[in-house]
Amino acid sequence: MSTDRLILKATLFAAEKHKDQRRKGESQIPYVNHVIEVAELLERFQHDTETIIAGLLHDTIEDTATTPEEIEEHFGVEILSVVLEVTDDKSLPKTERKLLQVVNTPKKSDSAKKVKIADKICNLKSIHTAPPENWTLDRQTEYFHWAKQVVDGARGVCPHLEQLFDDVWLAGIRELE
Ligand code: ZN
Repeated sequence: MSTDRLILKATLFAAEKHKDQRRKGESQIPYVNHVIEVAELLERFQHDTETIIAGLLHDTIEDTATTPEEIEEHFGVEILSVVLEVTDDKSLPKTERKLLQVVNTPKKSDSAKKVKIADKICNLKSIHTAPPENWTLDRQTEYFHWAKQVVDGARGVCPHLEQLFDDVWLAGIRELE
């Protein structure tokens, strides 16, 4: 299968899986916009097809009823392994999951680190432009600091993504603090 075809197949797969979900911000953007945005950033800085596809699929197992077997069947074991690397264990309490992201990110593959950085860039951007309803400024600030801790553990894989993260982080934190 051509790489274009695979990327479109993953986009369609993500759109179907996330079809009933919306982002938390007040604008209620369809969830799939988020994963397309993550994939677009990865493509922009010329990352490989596998990483771009993992970007498209990064929230399917964590946030939808998608099983690892489905991802493996359609996209292969390598992409599955990156998706699993960026999937939080939802059976754990939220504070523990957040701590684990900080602790475990440095041990992850380069592909997983790139997806993490792109994901955090998109999350910071949406918090900055359209914060989730009921998120206080303190909560937003806390998220910014936590995201930076996670990304600091992922550095060394793509200077462009890392620079973009720093720019977005700084622009946001200046208004919050
Ligand atoms: Zn995400």
